[in-house]
Amino acid sequence: MFKFNQTFLDRNAIVRDDPEQIERLASDPRVKLILFNERFQVLMSPDGIHTANAAHDSQAPQSSEWLYLGQSQPYVTTSGGTDITNTDSIRSESSNHKSNNAPWFCAIINSHSFELQHHRQWSDLRLTMSAIAEPEASAVAFAKALLYWHKKHQYCGKCGEKTIIQSSGHERQCTACQQVVYPRTDPAIIISVTHKGRLLLARQASWPPARYSVLAGFVEPGESFEQAAEREVLEESGITIHSPEYIASQPWPFPCSIMIGFTAEAKNDAINLDDDELEHAFWVEPEELISKLAAGELKLPTYGSISHYLIDRWADQHGVSISRWDHP
Ligand SMILES: [Zn+2]
Repeated sequence: MFKFNQTFLDRNAIVRDDPEQIERLASDPRVKLILFNERFQVLMSPDGIHTANAAHDSQAPQSSEWLYLGQSQPYVTTSGGTDITNTDSIRSESSNHKSNNAPWFCAIINSHSFELQHHRQWSDLRLTMSAIAEPEASAVAFAKALLYWHKKHQYCGKCGEKTIIQSSGHERQCTACQQVVYPRTDPAIIISVTHKGRLLLARQASWPPARYSVLAGFVEPGESFEQAAEREVLEESGITIHSPEYIASQPWPFPCSIMIGFTAEAKNDAINLDDDELEHAFWVEPEELISKLAAGELKLPTYGSISHYLIDRWADQHGVSISRWDHP
């Protein structure tokens, strides 16, 4: 399975424009507040995301600065029609969140004026995502993407004047021309390309040594997801694919994307890295993948990412398991 796709928050959009209801929810004793610093690191306790007492911490920002995420509900998995989740682990991970209807908020705080107490620490979500349990990880991903959008939309794109938060954090409005803008997410396709039982793996020069993944790239204006998949694979590797098949999608808050996962069979296998985006790409056989992992010659993408899931899914379909290397 992968992270950030668990549905446990009722986004409860109907209350966003009701300041009295939002104020009442913010003062609810069950309230959960996810705190990030100015570098978008999340506040962690030794046992996970620090939310339980954050709202009542004297150092927490005023509730007027909080963004409303929703109410916690018993949650179900969303998998794009594919059974990709381990229901046993979901059940145990969700035991603390069953139907308590707690209001969830998020806010940014300046780390320079915040004293870290009780072994709390600021943590980079990308580095710690595999260690954060669901459903908190999904709420944190939602919060991070929303807070990042606010930081990047302080000024109006139409007239250049200041914008202010509206709708409990789900709109910004220009103070001059009144234009309203809404939180956006950037779509990117990610695709496992196969050819006669082999998988295409590739790496960028900036990645850690030996790290390989499947191909990915942003969707451009005027493109369908399928067209973006075909174009990206051709541009990056010189390989032509046909009929990409949708697998699943993953919110990816680095900084504010959604990854749309596909798989496709290649029409040709001659790799051409002309556009310089990739440092190296190669076709791997199932047994060869395992032997390279065992020898340390190849490292997988982060566990919990859809890229890791697509490789895991392909390995599973070819009778090998990469689970030994889930948590390197
Ligand atoms: Zn404006």
